[in-house]
Amino acid sequence: MDDEKIETKDVKVIILGENGVGKTSIINRYINDEFNPNNVSETLGSTFSMKEIKKLNIIYKLKIWDSTGQEKYHSITKLFIKGSNIVLLVYSFDSIESFEHLNYWYSSIKEILEGDNYILAIIANKNDLKNEGVVSEEEGKKFAEDKKALFKSVSAKEDGQGINKLFDILIDELSQINFESITQSYVLHKKHLKKRKKQQCLC
Ligand code: GDP
Ligand code: MG
Repeated sequence: MDDEKIETKDVKVIILGENGVGKTSIINRYINDEFNPNNVSETLGSTFSMKEIKKLNIIYKLKIWDSTGQEKYHSITKLFIKGSNIVLLVYSFDSIESFEHLNYWYSSIKEILEGDNYILAIIANKNDLKNEGVVSEEEGKKFAEDKKALFKSVSAKEDGQGINKLFDILIDELSQINFESITQSYVLHKKHLKKRKKQQCLC
């Protein structure tokens, strides 16, 4: 008799940052293990991709939302951000502007997700250009530390493993939520998941 009880959890993931930092490429690498060196044509709006990850007896149904162009005009909607469980803020090693604008993206999500709990990760993309880049990894790490966020440098172009690892880490963070937490954000997140679980029971 198989008495393993499988639980499923919907996880909303959003990816934000300046146009051109490689947000779509990161998702494309993770979902399809592909990289497109040319700019992908985009229609305005937002789209999501799905991926399911099983860890122990939980299936995490990731819904990864990508902004497709609105970030150019800094016109991301409240709806896009609301209810996120994981927020990925991306800059790229070759763009100082994308790094400087992290503060803008950080305050936008902070305001909208105020009181909720979520896992925040700062992603430095294009680490294949790290040596010729204009932003150092240390600056990114420092920013992440200040915001009590995770930090990971990746390359959508060359390092699919790094991006898989990134998502593994994020899922680990979600799955360890039942352990007694050491940071404020874990405690809050735990509360949030409990609330969600209750809501699911009512349905
Ligand atoms: P988005 O606007 O943030 O969604 O960025 P895109 O995913 O459309 O990528 C913008 C450009 O950067 C494209 O030409 C990509 O091919 C390129 N790009 C994305 N990721 C990387 C990377 O890791 N390394 C390098 N060298 N180029 C990348
Ligand atoms: Mg894009």
